[in-house]
Amino acid sequence: MSDQLLKINELSVSVKDKSILHSVNLSIGVGETHVLMGPNGAGKSTLGYALMGNLSYHVDDGEILFENKPIQNETPDKRAKEGIFLSFQNPLEVPGITLSSFLRTSIQQRRGERIRVFAFKKEMEQAMELLSMDKFYADRDLNVGFSGGEKKKAEILQMLMLKPKLAILDETDSGLDVDAVRTVSKGIEEYQKNQQGSLLIITHSTRILESLRVDYTHVMVDGKIVCTGSAALIDEINQNGFESFLDQMQQK
Ligand code: ADP
Ligand code: MG
Repeated sequence: MSDQLLKINELSVSVKDKSILHSVNLSIGVGETHVLMGPNGAGKSTLGYALMGNLSYHVDDGEILFENKPIQNETPDKRAKEGIFLSFQNPLEVPGITLSSFLRTSIQQRRGERIRVFAFKKEMEQAMELLSMDKFYADRDLNVGFSGGEKKKAEILQMLMLKPKLAILDETDSGLDVDAVRTVSKGIEEYQKNQQGSLLIITHSTRILESLRVDYTHVMVDGKIVCTGSAALIDEINQNGFESFLDQMQQK
């Protein structure tokens, strides 16, 4: 058993007075990789946003413990500082702020200290090389005019440089071509192996998981985690779809 990093107890979440998550329990240990699967609209992204503290997602009940401390009343900034990172399904475009200055500011906020330009640039260039990103993206406005694949790579670049304790990746592989999936996966593998980071990977596709170690798989249906298993559960879902889980839900 590894040390506990995140513990969600009986978490219920609503959006605009509509109840979405119902008594969700989930524990993630230090260095563990968890995969969250489930049909569209099940509430997977809602869980990611609620963990990050997005104000549109209201915690009605339950608690979120990060390193044994309740965080459900903390701001998203505070949570990021504590070491939680969320990669968005649809990353925002930010005109007027370059990728490089955005990254440097985020890292300084996270670490609570100034980092030297030279050291920062060197670290950024190494990470960009790993992700096969052209260096000139560093001086472009964040995500403006980036292709889907480039936006996702920019998210993984942020993760590698911020070195969070827990990274939540929401459909980071959706809409990517084969090469981009491989590259993004290489970035996640670096985080998993060399930074010993913990992961909650929300995904529909298993291509991104091929080179990654998966410790646990969870299935979410109708705002509830209905099944938890090992990596083998992913193959089962691939073969049989979510139908059997939906049937189980109806019988309850
Ligand atoms: P998933 O990521 O599993 O596809 P979501 O968490 O995005 O599911 O959505 C779960 C449910 O919550 C859906 O019915 C969706 O319409 C609703 N929902 C999520 N976010 C919002 C929002 N900001 N406003 C209104 N409804 C939302
Ligand atoms: Mg989603």
